[in-house]
Amino acid sequence: MSRRAKRTTTPAPAPERPVELSIAPPDPDSLTAWMSEGNCRLHPPATFFPSDGVGVDRARKICKSCPVGERCLDYALENRIEHGVWGGCSERERRRIWKRRRDEIELSLSTN
Ligand code: SF4
Repeated sequence: MSRRAKRTTTPAPAPERPVELSIAPPDPDSLTAWMSEGNCRLHPPATFFPSDGVGVDRARKICKSCPVGERCLDYALENRIEHGVWGGCSERERRRIWKRRRDEIELSLSTN
């Protein structure tokens, strides 16, 4: 016998017309409007805040075909977002990019 309790209620009938969303659609002029086009909108947010390398790889695969991946990575870099996978880049990869950019700026300042 199954350990699960038997369902005693019948599922609710499907609505006859689409349910209206209670949240407003994103403002197309907002700086984060692109987020509504990301592949991650179809996955649980926790997918993009993995705790191990396997999880990072799983998130990267989703990001790989994302139509707003470049904007996502730029956003994370510009806003110094330290946690999660953004634009297909892990926390470690973004730290490397920040360091490389900082080194390039310092080099250009020292040669001018
Ligand atoms: S690149 Fe990844 S995290 Fe960024 S919007 Fe696309 S799916 Fe989401």
